[in-house]
Amino acid sequence: MTTIEKLLVLQERDRRIKDLTRDTHQIPARKKLSEAALIEHKTALDDAQEALKRTSAAIKGVELEIETQRQRIGKLRTQQNTVRTNDDYRALEREIATVEKTIRDEEDKEIALMEEAEGLRTNIALLDKRHSEEQKSVEADTQALDQRLGAIKEEISRLKAERMELAKAIDPEWLSRYERIFKHMGDFALVPVESGSCGGCHMKIAPQLIQDAKRSDHMTNCSFCGRLLYWRI
Ligand SMILES: [Zn+2]
Repeated sequence: MTTIEKLLVLQERDRRIKDLTRDTHQIPARKKLSEAALIEHKTALDDAQEALKRTSAAIKGVELEIETQRQRIGKLRTQQNTVRTNDDYRALEREIATVEKTIRDEEDKEIALMEEAEGLRTNIALLDKRHSEEQKSVEADTQALDQRLGAIKEEISRLKAERMELAKAIDPEWLSRYERIFKHMGDFALVPVESGSCGGCHMKIAPQLIQDAKRSDHMTNCSFCGRLLYWRI
């Protein structure tokens, strides 16, 4: 194997390590994203439950008010039995009518509140169902992502070990040049000459450089991007 051939194998490993490392960085973000949606829906459920609590309290308040007003009517009726004049009697009658009107208004209010509570209960049931379904699916996703992360990490260590072995067999000068360019470029350090152009930056290469690139014992850099050029046989 020529040094270029060895470097090409090494580059393939380096590219896979780089891709897989990028994948590992995306996994926590993906987990956060699915958890965030769950939190959002949980908040909607909590809000609906809070609203139901408030409505139930309002219903109790209205019921208490109705009860109080009914007791008041009872007292007014008792009072009616003790009055001496018709005027006093009629005055109490009018007061009773006013209280009865208040009770009817409160009863209307209670009906509206009960309808509101019913709507909230239906909504809560739906939100609750959706939330527990989502919770299950998020748990499954998280588990799958954790498994994937574990598998990727294993694969990376395997590739790194392999890469270390491969690197040992490569001339140190070539290796350090290759590593510097790979790190700097982020994609390829070693590129083929393609129809007279650099396979990395696609600029036209001077004929002399193409001749140099054909020699496998010679390091030839693209004069534009600096990547190492090789001649594909
Ligand atoms: Zn180039």
